[in-house]
Amino acid sequence: MRLRDKVALITGGNSGIGLATAKLFVSEGAKVAITGRDQKTLDAAALELGDEALVIQANVTDQAAMERAIVATVEKFDKLDVVFTNAGTGYFTPLGGTSAESFENILNVNVTSTFLIVQACLPHLKQGASIILNSSVQNVDGKPRLSAYAASKSALRTMVRAMASELSPRGIRVNAVSPGSIDTPIWDNVAPSPKEKKNLYNRLKRSIPLGRVGTPLEVAYAVLFLASDESSFIQAAEIVIDGGATGAMMGAPIYNQ
Ligand code: NAP
Repeated sequence: MRLRDKVALITGGNSGIGLATAKLFVSEGAKVAITGRDQKTLDAAALELGDEALVIQANVTDQAAMERAIVATVEKFDKLDVVFTNAGTGYFTPLGGTSAESFENILNVNVTSTFLIVQACLPHLKQGASIILNSSVQNVDGKPRLSAYAASKSALRTMVRAMASELSPRGIRVNAVSPGSIDTPIWDNVAPSPKEKKNLYNRLKRSIPLGRVGTPLEVAYAVLFLASDESSFIQAAEIVIDGGATGAMMGAPIYNQ
């Protein structure tokens, strides 16, 4: 039990990477609170996580609602040890066709909300606490039409470093996970049908040295490590979970077939 007696808050815990992490945390002994917007997937997550979990409907951009969610977590479980700011949004924002509102929405959901959630958690966090931000390989990839998403994810990567500097004197760790292409519902808007998704993943895997997209659980294991005391000397780091797509690009099938 790598998280025995720990209490964790996971935003976006009703789907994809967040849900896989919540389930893994519970199986490792943690008490878990999750947030999300969609009541249907929140209800489904509640069934999967069991009676002990706290499931809260809250939009991460609603500062007051998130502050209430944090207080409710501490009231139910008496403390807070781990914060995984995972909720995020992404869609194309092409140059020449993007409104200010559309661009700023991504920054608001992914960056501003993350900052405010971490800030609101701080009064409850003690020596040994671990904060993990979900960035993305898009913090370096330079993919076209993703300016807002890329800017948001590189902001998270650098915010981790600033926060880690500020929180080191309190013994609180702040790190990032940066997933590559992971099989989650986030791709539904670009590939709504199973056939489109299969075609998309077949295209994506050509640029991944390990030759496949990743699973949410493969990201969850990295988050578990950063959440646990096993990573007690790891501070301001980034764990990239992308099958080698950024670090070993030339090993990708597209260069070798
Ligand atoms: P997902 O299954 O679509 O999960 C996204 C989660 O974020 C959902 O739980 C969603 O909850 C929540 N969310 C989005 N906007 C929200 C808002 N305004 N307020 C509250 N919750 C909100 O996709 P995922 O892939 O697991 O994404 C999780 C994180 O991983 C995101 O930050 C994403 O950028 C990052 N990531 C994913 C990949 C990938 O390939 N899948 C790669 C790199 C990084 P509701 O549906 O209830 O709003």
